[in-house]
Amino acid sequence: MSLRTASAATVAAVDRRQRLCDVFGEEYDPDSWADWRWQLRHRLSRPEHFERYLELTSSELNGLRMGMERFAVSATPHFASLMDPFDPSCPIRRQVVPTDQEFLVQPGDMEDPCGEDEKSVVDGLVHRYPDRVLLLALDSCASYCRYCTRSRLVSQGDLEPLPRRVQAILAYLREHTEVRDVLLSGGDPLLMSEDRLDSLLGAIRAIDHIELLRIGSRVPGFLPQRITPELVAVLRRHRVWLSLHFSHPAELTPEVAAACDMLADAGIPLGSQTVLLRGINDDPAVLKQLFHGLLKNRVRPYYLYQADPVVGTAHLRTSIAKGIEIMGQLRGHTSGYAVPTYVVDAPGGGGKIPLQPETVVSRNGSSWRLRNWAGREYTYVDPPGVE
Ligand code: SF4
Repeated sequence: MSLRTASAATVAAVDRRQRLCDVFGEEYDPDSWADWRWQLRHRLSRPEHFERYLELTSSELNGLRMGMERFAVSATPHFASLMDPFDPSCPIRRQVVPTDQEFLVQPGDMEDPCGEDEKSVVDGLVHRYPDRVLLLALDSCASYCRYCTRSRLVSQGDLEPLPRRVQAILAYLREHTEVRDVLLSGGDPLLMSEDRLDSLLGAIRAIDHIELLRIGSRVPGFLPQRITPELVAVLRRHRVWLSLHFSHPAELTPEVAAACDMLADAGIPLGSQTVLLRGINDDPAVLKQLFHGLLKNRVRPYYLYQADPVVGTAHLRTSIAKGIEIMGQLRGHTSGYAVPTYVVDAPGGGGKIPLQPETVVSRNGSSWRLRNWAGREYTYVDPPGVE
């Protein structure tokens, strides 16, 4: 980027920040902007907030007026500042601004595509795989993704506050010695106060057979200001792995890079999950740029998800064939670390199923005909006497 372009981009970014502060009748102040609590208090969460900032289409306006009853709408000023106010096809905007297409229900759409409710063993604890559990810590997020798998739960206010549920959760974990891995998700656990998170993680860590503690979070992308030294100290103390969520390379801002640096410098392992979204990131060049950017930030791209068939999200989903085609254009064409595993979370609760372009062409006894990334075929022969 030339100096001239860089300074034009900076001016545009400050312009958008002022435009966002105008929504609330305030002057842009860099210190307030850098404060995560200010960011949360100034989220765009009502139709009029979006109307003051964006040039809305009638579909977006309908979505905003009627959609929030189905699933909350919200965007932090940080994330909103990445949106193009004049382009409804902007990939950042489409992730969080609803349209009236959310009211279309397609065959196969489901409220709970991953079958989590059925596998709920205690309020807010899902035990789906033998040695792993999912702990739903809270039901709110910094911003709301229109394709959220848990939109039936997130922002709905039906989940009891954690203090009322935590003893039953801990009792289940203590009793089930086969559980060695706990994933905290929600909602977004990194919105909890440091004290509350510290106490929850400490109570789980005190259970001998729990080996792995993971947190799934979109906070570093939606609200990088939340990654403070105090929060990082809590995560470090309890040896947490973080599974982050990014959809598009434009999300990898300098603030996000600084947040990832703090986490990585503290030794917290960072992986990322990306949902394949039609018209947002279903393009090998876009995904390659995202995955390379994540690696530069020391975040390992881990899963690329086929979007779950959540009610009202068909307009954001693409086909499995497209996903496999994209994977074929990534694997072998860039560093292996930059290539996540493409999975579909089997509707009905079947768990994750990896998908990849066909590489085994044929087999004749111990001789395997294999296809490489460039489409060329090779033969591998198993050693004699090995089944
Ligand atoms: S951050 Fe995660 S839980 Fe929250 S709305 Fe987005 S997908 Fe759903």
